[in-house]
Amino acid sequence: MSDQSFDYDLFVIGAGSGGTRAARVAGAYGAKVAIAEEYRVGGTCVIRGCVPKKLLVYGAHFAEDLADARRFGWNVPECDFDWKTLTSNVFEEVDRINGAYTNTLQSNGVEILHERAEITGPHDIRLASGRQVTARYILVAVGARPSIPTCPGHEHGITSNEAFHLPAVPKRILIAGAGYIANEFAGIFHQLGAHVTLINRTDQILRGYDETIRDRLLQISITKGLEFRFNAEFQGIEKLEDGCLKVSMSNHEPAIVDCVMFATGREPKTQNLGLESAGVELDDKGAIKVDEDSRSSCPSIFAVGDVTNRVQLTPIAIREGQAFADTFFGNKPWRVDYENIPAAVFSHPPMAGVGLTESQAKQKVGSVKVYTSDFRPMKNVLAGRNERALYKMVCNGMTGQVLGVHMIGPDAPEILQAAAVAVKAGLTKDAWDQTVALHPTMAEELVLMK
Ligand code: NDP
Repeated sequence: MSDQSFDYDLFVIGAGSGGTRAARVAGAYGAKVAIAEEYRVGGTCVIRGCVPKKLLVYGAHFAEDLADARRFGWNVPECDFDWKTLTSNVFEEVDRINGAYTNTLQSNGVEILHERAEITGPHDIRLASGRQVTARYILVAVGARPSIPTCPGHEHGITSNEAFHLPAVPKRILIAGAGYIANEFAGIFHQLGAHVTLINRTDQILRGYDETIRDRLLQISITKGLEFRFNAEFQGIEKLEDGCLKVSMSNHEPAIVDCVMFATGREPKTQNLGLESAGVELDDKGAIKVDEDSRSSCPSIFAVGDVTNRVQLTPIAIREGQAFADTFFGNKPWRVDYENIPAAVFSHPPMAGVGLTESQAKQKVGSVKVYTSDFRPMKNVLAGRNERALYKMVCNGMTGQVLGVHMIGPDAPEILQAAAVAVKAGLTKDAWDQTVALHPTMAEELVLMK
């Protein structure tokens, strides 16, 4: 199937989740494919995102599990925690997955180029080594990077990229932002013994999530001892003589901490990629504008994943990569459906949701019925832990169709994945209720909501 007039049928820039999927699937269809990666195969998710973060979440959760174990009859001696052991084991796992991604690419005949690539024309790429190559299609899958507010002393702060490489758990950490990364790392560092302060420019955490669920996370987090400062605009960081950081912000006293972490969103990595040389248009956030087939304004250049800023989630980047490869190399055209994407925040406790929130549903369909279950999980009861779980179902008031399910509590993301199938299938509350509860579980509350 190779077009002899180009060096490659497909040249992928960026070996993260989306780029790797597209490259290996196109390779499996018989295309001549190369992928350039300036850092490590695996991208944000594998190297410095979802995977190592989730492993830290597991590691941090032992703090509660070990405390609770005593209530379940275990004689747990005083334990201490070793950050270096956890992180070095996490890095080993990251190396293993990095190896697996590399093998998958190679076994599908994809040539891996460990260097930076830049576009020099609609079909042209220049590699850092100076080599110039051509490709029928170019796929840009370079992802996003943390965006850091420009304030004096911002260089003293870290981002989630560096959080994994801290030499020790900071005694006091200030996290700027109140989104996914902020709440996940707040939970991790708090469980591991740090005093955590979150500051946010508004008075809301996790904007976009269902109001009731995120309020519950806020309430639980405050009860656990996390400090929140709202309506706080970052003004600057000053490094003091003793090495501590003094953080100034609007509407609040300065905070003295040992570490500052920015979790204030992520921006597409479109700078210095040569996109302008091929007439690739960007939106006002710097993301590559693409159509439903992930095609940019240049017909031979496509983009998937966070660089397009559609939905910054790994499974979406993977789907976009798969759809691109199936459509243009497998003769099986299809498009990604962005409706009812399940998402989770791996906070302590975690929360998850799919479909419309209550306010979104009211705006969209007008008449809405809401069912909830507010309960104390059995395990928490015996452990003497007051934390309550909350499940919420948002239905169309006229038809009974379940439009959204949102939850916070132990294992919420694990439970929500199954619920998302039913929401995607468009089932009604009646159909959910006809399903017999599986007792005793937390998930049974899904079919018992009042
Ligand atoms: P989010 O968009 O989730 O949150 C950003 C936070 O920073 C918000 O609270 C926002 O406030 C605040 N903020 C934004 N800009 C500024 C600024 N200039 N000054 C001060 N505060 C600011 O971004 P994250 O960085 O947490 O995560 C990036 C993306 O990565 C997420 O959107 C998500 O798609 C993905 N991700 C997914 C995870 C998962 O699936 N579990 C885990 C981690 C990341 P405001 O509300 O006012 O805008």
